[in-house]
Amino acid sequence: MKLTVKDVWMARKRIHRVLPRTPLLHSASLSSFTGVPVYLKLEHLQPTGSFKLRGATNMISSLTETEKKKGVATFSTGNHGFAVAHAAANLGIRAVVCVSERVPEAKIEALKKSGADLHIEGESQDAAAEVCFRLQKEKGCVLIPPFDHPHIIAGQGTIGLEILEDLPEVKHVLGGLSGGGLLSGIGLALKETDPAIRVTGLCVEKGAAMDESIQAGKPVNVPEHPTYADSLLGGIGLHNRYTMPMVTRYVDKRLRLSDTTIAKGMAFLYDKHRLVVEGAAAVGAGALLDGLVRPEGPTVLVITGNSIDPRSHLEAVQPYVSL
Ligand SMILES: *Cc1c(COP(=O)(O)O)cnc(C)c1O
Repeated sequence: MKLTVKDVWMARKRIHRVLPRTPLLHSASLSSFTGVPVYLKLEHLQPTGSFKLRGATNMISSLTETEKKKGVATFSTGNHGFAVAHAAANLGIRAVVCVSERVPEAKIEALKKSGADLHIEGESQDAAAEVCFRLQKEKGCVLIPPFDHPHIIAGQGTIGLEILEDLPEVKHVLGGLSGGGLLSGIGLALKETDPAIRVTGLCVEKGAAMDESIQAGKPVNVPEHPTYADSLLGGIGLHNRYTMPMVTRYVDKRLRLSDTTIAKGMAFLYDKHRLVVEGAAAVGAGALLDGLVRPEGPTVLVITGNSIDPRSHLEAVQPYVSL
């Protein structure tokens, strides 16, 4: 199945009643710094604090009545896990999040609050994933994947439609790149509409699975390293079907950013815009500030999420803000 812009419009039709349109904020400071108009697409204002809610809502609302009765499942404890829990609760569907016994109590409480049933079993994230596959087989619930599925990609692509509507003259979009659902969807919506629009994917310096995989010509696993952009970690799936080809096609340039660049981006967004966001959301700002990307005309940075605890945020921004 090849995705088209029509799939993104269908996604928009499904999600627009339950998800608010996010604002596109003009950044006077980044505009004067770069010499081109720069805007911030504020996806951290989604009810769960990240854009992942778009894909999850689109996929869950596309299920058949029989599937909806059986419920959905995921093993993500990150932004995707919260998105699945919230989207399912919103649509009155049962969601099970499989977590390992090592997941901290605070996270478990937060997931419960967002409406999920927790299935706590196993010693590691991989074991939790196995449990999830087992539940899928035994109970027939539908696994909601974090990025490599047409409905997820089309859902994230609705960000691209909103950008085109709010800033028809857009020339360049910068966003975080991990599994690639975000930029596959945005790239599809933007570049099938106007191939002249540039899309730049920003990855972590160490553990950039998509970048390594595209260079290797096939999906590869890479070791992870701690970073402020932890939402950009994780593999792309050794059986990747959609996002690797779509990122290859729609993302003009991929760059890897150091944690210093990412922390500078976080500090700038805090200092100039009073935004408290996670590292993965600050990659665009960091890349512009460090002169790693030359923006080509009206530019949009996708501010993807705000999942960071206050202590880590403070630690990241403190060296760069004038107190
Ligand atoms: C998931 C996520 C990304 C990356 O999206 P992919 O679809 O995996 O490329 C970026 N930022 C945040 C905050 C995320 O949660």
